[in-house]
Amino acid sequence: MTIEADDRTIDQALQRRLIEAVARSIIAHADELTGLDRAIGDGDHGLNLKRGFEAVLTDIDNLVAKPLPDALRSIGTCLVLKVGGASGPLYGTLFLALGKELPEAPRPADAARAFGGAIAAVMARGKSQPGQKTMLDVLTPVHAELSQGGADLAGRLKARANAAAAATVPMRALRGRASFLGERSIGHIDPGARSSALMIEAVCEVLGG
Ligand code: ADP
Ligand code: MG
Repeated sequence: MTIEADDRTIDQALQRRLIEAVARSIIAHADELTGLDRAIGDGDHGLNLKRGFEAVLTDIDNLVAKPLPDALRSIGTCLVLKVGGASGPLYGTLFLALGKELPEAPRPADAARAFGGAIAAVMARGKSQPGQKTMLDVLTPVHAELSQGGADLAGRLKARANAAAAATVPMRALRGRASFLGERSIGHIDPGARSSALMIEAVCEVLGG
């Protein structure tokens, strides 16, 4: 996928770098994610995702050999099977839907459209929407930025993702386990918002530096 240059498509080497970057970033930040989930959930978000992305890395050669949409669908299935909790089915849905929506050689407009479709699938699955202190509070603004296109898109997407994750601190959780805390969910970053920002940051670093 090219965010910056229109004539580059994803070859196998780039596909490997993208998948490995996302998986390694999540694995490297597992303790941080688990710590965030300890504050307003049950303290398993990092562990859950680490298990899922370790399974993705185990399958990396197979994933790289597939066309991008097939690889994304395989990652989605893997996350559904391995991650568990609320985030497993939700991230699973995100990757599965991305795989269904993206063509084999996506251009920027394809990426924006597919990402929008995948977010809609997560909302349907989670019966959720932005503003409820979840991963959607990162995914949705990133999609808005992606849809704008323009210069230094990768850098802007990274900044937008991190700012959006930080902006979940004052929010009150209305979905997921954190919602059980009511007012006490205020004052912490949502773990799923942070993991989404990490994934987006990893993709942007590979694509745009
Ligand atoms: P669990 O809450 O089952 O332990 P995780 O800890 O792995 O699952 O994931 C928690 C994260 O999942 C939350 O921080 C939030 O971002 C996300 N989440 C939970 N429920 C929903 C939902 N209905 N819609 C969107 N995201 C959700
Ligand atoms: Mg949890």
